[in-house]
Amino acid sequence: MPNKEITKETPPTYARTANFCPLDIAIVGAGVAGLVAGYLLGRAGHRVTLFDSASELGEVGAGIQLTPNVTRLLIRWGVGEQLRKVGVVPPTFSLRRYATGEVIGWRKWGDNMERDYGAPYCLAHRADLHKILLDLAKPYVVIRLNSTVVDINPSLPTLTLSSGEVVRTQMIIGADGIHSRVRNVVVGSIDRPKPTGDAAYRAVVPSSELLKDPDLAPFVEDGTNIWMGPRRHLVTYPLRNKELYNIVMAYPSPSTDEVTRPVDPAIMRNDFIDFEPRARKLLALIKATSSWALMDHKPLDNWVHKDGKVCLLGDACHPMLPYRAQGAAMAIEDGAALGNLFSRITHPSQIGKMLWAYQEIRHPRATAAQLESRMNQRIFHLPDGPEQEARDESMRQATVAAIKEANGEPADDCVGSQNQWADKQKNDRVFGYDIDAEVDKWWKEHESDFNILKAKM
Ligand SMILES: Cc1cc2nc3c(=O)[nH]c(=O)nc-3n(C[C@H](O)[C@H](O)[C@H](O)COP(=O)(O)OP(=O)(O)OC[C@H]3O[C@@H](n4cnc5c(N)ncnc54)[C@H](O)[C@@H]3O)c2cc1C
Repeated sequence: MPNKEITKETPPTYARTANFCPLDIAIVGAGVAGLVAGYLLGRAGHRVTLFDSASELGEVGAGIQLTPNVTRLLIRWGVGEQLRKVGVVPPTFSLRRYATGEVIGWRKWGDNMERDYGAPYCLAHRADLHKILLDLAKPYVVIRLNSTVVDINPSLPTLTLSSGEVVRTQMIIGADGIHSRVRNVVVGSIDRPKPTGDAAYRAVVPSSELLKDPDLAPFVEDGTNIWMGPRRHLVTYPLRNKELYNIVMAYPSPSTDEVTRPVDPAIMRNDFIDFEPRARKLLALIKATSSWALMDHKPLDNWVHKDGKVCLLGDACHPMLPYRAQGAAMAIEDGAALGNLFSRITHPSQIGKMLWAYQEIRHPRATAAQLESRMNQRIFHLPDGPEQEARDESMRQATVAAIKEANGEPADDCVGSQNQWADKQKNDRVFGYDIDAEVDKWWKEHESDFNILKAKM
């Protein structure tokens, strides 16, 4: 069934300033972060080149949850209709006990998201999202594939490719992901992400397989389901107009250096042997899977090199556990912040000041997402016992409030609930955020500083 919710297309809110100064900008990495930054900076009028080590661009075959803070931007950029065609709007969100499948935490999502935040919560295939962003960026950027950046001189600035070619530019954006090399340059030393103690198996199965089994068929029409167990959890949801079904399985892993490796599905199934029968039936549908080491990083002090010509965005500066579904969301908001700010630049001497503005606007929000993701690691993975019982009680109370709200009755805001998606304050802060409005607000307060800078030139 088509998702009627994603309907409104609104024109972009900002255009480049009078006296706009076009810059040469190099972006390292063409993942979601690099593509969004490239699209918006290029559209503003900058000369943008994206360098990626891959021989072709694409994404892993897995799902991604896009929250209203991101779908609002995609709609604004004119691709809401495309998202509508490939996405699924989940009607509900459920947190379950691993051994019984009992629903402990529940929220009505669907229309409520549109009503409360003006944009939908949408489940998408990563490849579909990546293609939408690539198509947006292509007319405005040069993309250089097979171009691994091996070194950066942050003062000139220049970047050096593995071929030996040296590229001179005016500004470098490190969107090179969790194992970022540009981060080493910004931090000033080798800086690796930290193991979280968890890894995740990922798989996508045809929904037709679920529809053959009366126990599993209801999940295709359902929204996001999370089964919480000791040190493990499952996240499942339908994808691509409900033709596919996404399964992510988080489990304890001491791994450090590995990024991803194929795993025998029998080993994966054994890791979830004590989960309820329907969960095990879902895992039985998986024919092949791989495991991703889940790493994060404590919040960095700086995302901008001291010389003010190199910055980080996306996973390069705030890698986080995927347990709040905000990693790509933060990357996309970062790109939007840069695009918006740099549409106002009138002289190259403002680059550093603009980059520090970007950091000032984005750092607190991305840091909160990192910390809340870590918080869900503890909440989801509690061993059976008094703490888990207290968690379940907190989630059940929030479910009572959610049912009242769904029935149109006054309900508690559930501030501090162990179900972080039931906490109205958190939802308002995360989902209600509009990065363009934040930049506009910042600019109104600080524009005069930039005028002074101009006057001094
Ligand atoms: C299991 C799992 C589930 C997730 N679920 C969600 C979710 O539901 N919602 C959400 O918002 N987020 C989710 N995330 C997080 C999200 O996937 C990431 O935050 C996001 O993809 C980061 O994008 P990025 O562009 O910063 O980095 P990346 O996607 O890693 O892109 C980096 C790019 O840089 C290139 N590159 C790297 N080094 C170099 C170099 N030296 N030279 C040139 N190119 C280079 C790479 O080839 C790559 O193309 C999830 C993550 C995981 C692991």
